[in-house]
Amino acid sequence: MRSLFNLAVLLLLPLSACSLFEPEPATATFKTMGTRAAVTLAGLENEKLAKAAVDAERLMAALEAELSIYRADSVVSRLNSLAGVRPMEVPEHTRRLLEISIKYGDLTSGAFDVTLGPVVGLWRPKPGQTPSLPTEDALQEKLALVNFRNIKVQGSEAFLPTPGMRVDLGGIAKGYAVDLAWQALRRRGAVNFMFDLGGNIRVSGKAGSGLPWSIAVRSPFDTSRNLANVAMPDGWAVATSGQYERFVEIEGRRYGHIIDPRTGYPAAGLAGVTVFAREATMTDGLSTALFVLGPQKSVPVLRKTGAEAIFIPDKEPPELWVTPGIQSRLSLLEEAKVTLLPGW
Ligand code: ADP
Ligand code: MG
Repeated sequence: MRSLFNLAVLLLLPLSACSLFEPEPATATFKTMGTRAAVTLAGLENEKLAKAAVDAERLMAALEAELSIYRADSVVSRLNSLAGVRPMEVPEHTRRLLEISIKYGDLTSGAFDVTLGPVVGLWRPKPGQTPSLPTEDALQEKLALVNFRNIKVQGSEAFLPTPGMRVDLGGIAKGYAVDLAWQALRRRGAVNFMFDLGGNIRVSGKAGSGLPWSIAVRSPFDTSRNLANVAMPDGWAVATSGQYERFVEIEGRRYGHIIDPRTGYPAAGLAGVTVFAREATMTDGLSTALFVLGPQKSVPVLRKTGAEAIFIPDKEPPELWVTPGIQSRLSLLEEAKVTLLPGW
């Protein structure tokens, strides 16, 4: 009788802890910037959810119209088409993102380079064509156009001095968008929430019941499985870069969408890298860059920025190479070896 009673209490406790006293966090989703966005509000802020989602959606749509290289009339597309012709007046977000991108280029010794556009374009499948490897000549020709240091930003004007030069903000724009949405939510008085734009996530406050927000690190080898959970510090952001979701298959081999600016080829060696930092612009930019740099060369960048990271080398069984700040926040869900990042 006693053990039955204990069982009943155990079954009831988790239920009452979340559903009777406090509503479950609620999520609203919408499609934007080529991906899915999700606003999650915890606790008693639920009634604000619809309003928050509408606001965020409007913000994302405006950013996409300004920054997207898939829209011929975006600011960035117009800037690209004026390469080698003349400087152009650019609005604030474009100017700031160009400046931030140049900063991350310097910080990562060029592993992050927003002028990779022409090379990225070579690897992008053309509609109606069987994907094929770019020729060495084509790669060299496009690589000659790549150098973020040549971008000119002066006052409210920007200029790409070489004809054919092109900017592609795909490695950082989503993180920037997350920070803007996060700030807008805070200004509206939301305290406990999470904003997710295609895996670029930033949290605020708690996930309800006084618990920190927790994010799952998916297995790059089987995306239906989670390898670990990480408890997020208040206000922090997280982003993952990997080649396992966005790639092109050429002659039976997969080529990912993150390019190594030194070679023009897709970066290889890692299955994924997850970066944690105080801002989503940083986690987005750095996750792309650290994926290119690899674990050892990423150490000085991580030390300089105060960001934390999990590297998953491209071999099974999975291993997690982590910075010290992650070790205490990580709970493993699958069998995997966790070690301190080599070279730390
Ligand atoms: P996702 O867009 O899937 O979130 P990332 O944030 O890692 O992935 O960015 C990848 C995108 O960034 C590519 O699709 C391309 O547009 C651009 N890109 C690729 N390689 C680089 C690089 N080395 N530096 C800057 N941008 C890059
Ligand atoms: Mg990125």
